[in-house]
Amino acid sequence: MATAITIETERVKTGNDYTSKIQPLVCSSKRGEGNDKLYSPLCVAVDKLTGNIYIVDYSNNCVKVFDSTAKYIFKFGDSNGEGKMFSPRSLVICRSRILITHDHDILNYNLDGEFISRIGKHGKGELEFDIPWGIAINESNDDIYICDSNNNRIQILSQDFQFESQFGSFKYPCDVKLSKEYIYVLDTSNPCIHLFNHNHILQKRIISRGQGNQVIDPQSFFIDNSNNILYADYSSNSISIFNPEFQSIHNIPVSEQPTAVTVDNHDRVIVIFRKKNGCVKYLEIPLVSEIDNIIGFYHNVTHPGLNTTIDGIRNKYDWNGIYNDVGSYIRTCHDCQTSAALPPQPQRELQPIPPPEEPWCHCGIDLVRNKSRTVLGFQHILVIVCYLSKFVIARPLKTKTSKEILDCLQVIYLSFGVPKILQHDQGTEFSSKITHIFYILEISNCKYTK
Ligand SMILES: [Zn+2]
Repeated sequence: MATAITIETERVKTGNDYTSKIQPLVCSSKRGEGNDKLYSPLCVAVDKLTGNIYIVDYSNNCVKVFDSTAKYIFKFGDSNGEGKMFSPRSLVICRSRILITHDHDILNYNLDGEFISRIGKHGKGELEFDIPWGIAINESNDDIYICDSNNNRIQILSQDFQFESQFGSFKYPCDVKLSKEYIYVLDTSNPCIHLFNHNHILQKRIISRGQGNQVIDPQSFFIDNSNNILYADYSSNSISIFNPEFQSIHNIPVSEQPTAVTVDNHDRVIVIFRKKNGCVKYLEIPLVSEIDNIIGFYHNVTHPGLNTTIDGIRNKYDWNGIYNDVGSYIRTCHDCQTSAALPPQPQRELQPIPPPEEPWCHCGIDLVRNKSRTVLGFQHILVIVCYLSKFVIARPLKTKTSKEILDCLQVIYLSFGVPKILQHDQGTEFSSKITHIFYILEISNCKYTK
């Protein structure tokens, strides 16, 4: 039976300020027979040089390689011979070689998938393994760290595959990663990430929210360039992100239970899943900072309306809040605002305003909305004009809420007194709350229409 796989990549801000707006975008399903089909993928890694994506295909007993657009390139490990894999679990790419944990030993390939050597055997001693799982390389000295899961330890080998040391008394360690400061170990049966210093002394534990008791589906995690921790939270269908201070900074909901996560050379989060109906999805999410450019690309040539603009965008992109984003973009589009054909208005008779008896007794009030906000956050101007003296008061407003308008009017009234008549255009901002204050202050609430 075909098991379904999903690759989802989600774009995040450069500098790893993971935005809350990331949502799946473009999906392309790949179903049926073929090399690009996966069956229970357990691990994903990106080659920093080529950007190629290497996925450990557990049930197909091989590693499949995709380019950065998730297009299949080649696979290795499933043909008979010395390099044949049996239930591969995890891989690490370092300096033109790929190390893969499988069965009860480690396989060593080059980046083209050519078999080089086999390290270790089944057992409990040095250079012996019992279900080796996660694997990592210390980039400063090329030491190799292996989760020797069923032996409840991390085993460390030198770059020429000699035993160096071991540490830990874990329940079932399934993933290991390294930074300059820490060795991170994910213990599946006791779901938390343990942080050790490089002398193997426990420093901290990050408790994950997951339950993580499925040994066949161990979660994995990834340390990005800024030392943020991305954790595939299998039990809550999300990717949890912790900052270098180990505070939870983000939770990206994903479509199903994620099994592994990594970040590619373009700061896209790649997540792999297992699924029952057999498909591969490739999702690309724009950065928040890119959204205006994307809307502009689909709107600025012919200035179509809301729905047409969104239809164009959705050929390639989608995100939560697309209607709001495109709507507010069009509302502030200068061309649309200045060229929009207004519906014809019937001619009305002009109603002259009788000359006021004295200054400041009959005033007009209106709000002017600016297209953009000032650096201090102001976007509206409240304008009051005395109809006798033509004296004008203008005050900046950040919003046009009743409260802010009333606060502003209060300051004006305290300085200039209360007019007898305040004329306005029945805008929603002059709500009943404001006209009620007019009533209390005995201001005639004189309305006119445009
Ligand atoms: Zn426009």
